[in-house]
Amino acid sequence: GAATFLAVRVAPLADGLVVVLAEDRTTAVRVEETRRDFVANVSHELKTPIGAVALLAEAVESAADDPEAVLRFAARMTIESQRLSELVGQIIELSRLQADDPLVQAEPVEVDDILTQAVDRCRVDAQKRDVQLAVAGLPGCYVLGSELQLVAAVGNLVENAILYSDPGARVTVAVHRVERGDDDVVEITVSDNGIGIAPADLDRIFERFYRVDYARSRANGGTGLGLSIVKHIAAAHGGDVAVWSQPGQGSTFTVALPAPIGDAAAPLTARLPE
Ligand code: ADP
Repeated sequence: GAATFLAVRVAPLADGLVVVLAEDRTTAVRVEETRRDFVANVSHELKTPIGAVALLAEAVESAADDPEAVLRFAARMTIESQRLSELVGQIIELSRLQADDPLVQAEPVEVDDILTQAVDRCRVDAQKRDVQLAVAGLPGCYVLGSELQLVAAVGNLVENAILYSDPGARVTVAVHRVERGDDDVVEITVSDNGIGIAPADLDRIFERFYRVDYARSRANGGTGLGLSIVKHIAAAHGGDVAVWSQPGQGSTFTVALPAPIGDAAAPLTARLPE
């Protein structure tokens, strides 16, 4: 229902987490439009690979006496079905996240642990594309949240950084603890020196299904859902995601999360130098 799309802000207070729900009629109308757009987009995105598989199946039938052609068509069918299954997987992930919003089981998670898991997940991809992965962690730094979701978010950003970099490039993942106004914030940055993003696209890349270069993104197996999933996870944690980018120079994505207070922050305080 529409309730799962509510705008949610989680404000950390001294005695724990307070969740503030905000909704008004305009929000409800906007939510309904977003939902309708989403369904239309999903149908459109699913039709492409399904149509391709159907065409390829026909092609296989009519090429029955040409074993080489059959193999070629079959290989493309495999690619299209992989794409279909990736797409369905991400759509399910997105709706699961929306249902889980606000986050129900927030627990202290060590940020270095998130980075290690996210980077490990991308090692094979990085090796394939000859991209170096560097991690600058911050031992003892914790946030409150879902480990699974945060690993997925950072993993998505690292995956993109690898995908939109050239061979020999380096992708850096780092953690900083910063003051933002009165707030104590943990920033996770994923930086690449890849193709970058044009200013006109920067505002739109977090939209569902938005892809800058459809041909390149598609050839790389992108779905256009990765960044909207990242945005959703950051918001569910009371944080946000921002991007800096310069075409031809690279991009830096920053996920900012509220630093925990009370017991969860103890491991950091305990390790801070005098
Ligand atoms: P996709 O599955 O296509 O990667 P995303 O939602 O993850 O979808 O990203 C949306 C678009 O943003 C991508 O198609 C790509 O054009 C652009 N993008 C994302 N990350 C980067 C990056 N690190 N460098 C350059 N472009 C990027």
